[in-house]
Amino acid sequence: MTRPARVVINLSALRHNLARVHELAPACKIMAIVKADGYGHGLTRVAHALASADAFGVACLEEAKELRTSGIIQPIILLEGPYTANELTEIVQHALDIVVHDVTQVELLEHADLPKPITAWLKVDTGMHRLGFLPENVAEIWRRLSDCKAVADKIYLMTHLAAANERDNSMNHAQIECFRKVCAGLPAETSIANSAGILAFPDTHADWVRPGLMLYGVSPLRDSTGIDEGLLPVMTLKSELIAVKILRANEPVGYGATWRCPEDMPVGVVAAGYGDGYPRHAPSGTPVLVNGARVSLIGRASMDMLIVDLRTQPRAKVGDPVVLWGEGLPVEELARHADTIPYELLCAVHKRLQFVEYGKG
Ligand SMILES: *Cc1c(COP(=O)(O)O)cnc(C)c1O
Repeated sequence: MTRPARVVINLSALRHNLARVHELAPACKIMAIVKADGYGHGLTRVAHALASADAFGVACLEEAKELRTSGIIQPIILLEGPYTANELTEIVQHALDIVVHDVTQVELLEHADLPKPITAWLKVDTGMHRLGFLPENVAEIWRRLSDCKAVADKIYLMTHLAAANERDNSMNHAQIECFRKVCAGLPAETSIANSAGILAFPDTHADWVRPGLMLYGVSPLRDSTGIDEGLLPVMTLKSELIAVKILRANEPVGYGATWRCPEDMPVGVVAAGYGDGYPRHAPSGTPVLVNGARVSLIGRASMDMLIVDLRTQPRAKVGDPVVLWGEGLPVEELARHADTIPYELLCAVHKRLQFVEYGKG
């Protein structure tokens, strides 16, 4: 591909970040979360770089099958469980674990006739009110799953935190306490923590941690970046300047002429836009790196291009390197400017881009 926009993936940063999870939660087993195509980084690429994880978490059967086909042998957990009874045969065939979060899934298992039992992770709704059984129903569901021939003897218990990205949100302690009470007396390994739990709430570490975002070197916490947390960014969205020009004072740039030059000034055109996953609503002033130095986005990002203010880089020329996010410019910072979260930016990076990996080790 000749277009200079590309995604650079640092595999050694992935391994570093996994080691950082180990360091923060040394007693825990790690379920590496690789749903949504490994948060946009490439599912099998990520899973193989994280081969020392104890298990992988995905959103659906298709993702799990892709991992199995690529040679992943660890447990793979379907985080939303089976959607329909049709999936059960393949779930057994590929030796996948399932999250059980709704009574319809319990019924589906009770009616199933399978060659081998399936390992279940019983999900408790401790307050997020997305997936899971309410605390008062857990004992009964546990009993039904224990009695079910389609379910393996060893059942796990898990919950999910709603506000762990906010260190001072009182909901965290309420959820942790609720889960502790529900689990008391049930002989199960347990799991609570996503990345934010791992980083900010050591009492969520339990038996298994479930890091997603932090494996990719990014902080989910409002008040920090991955670098602050000892993580290294895995994805860098790079491109180059494809035009440099001097515009006169008061000339507009880009669609809608939303920005005008305050003086005669150099501007650069970068080959990257919303068609690559760059957020279209990033405002003028959003930082972009040109030759490793910060400059500002000006005007609206278009599909394949965006325009930057080169007044602080007057010698910049066509072909000079540009970083939209990643090494040197945390995606957390871009997300704040664009009024979104780093998760969305990473997942939205477009598959049309060339992916280049390094640091295989
Ligand atoms: C996506 C997901 C995670 C990972 O969350 P991060 O915030 O990316 O660490 C953990 N557990 C469940 C159930 C998830 O769906």
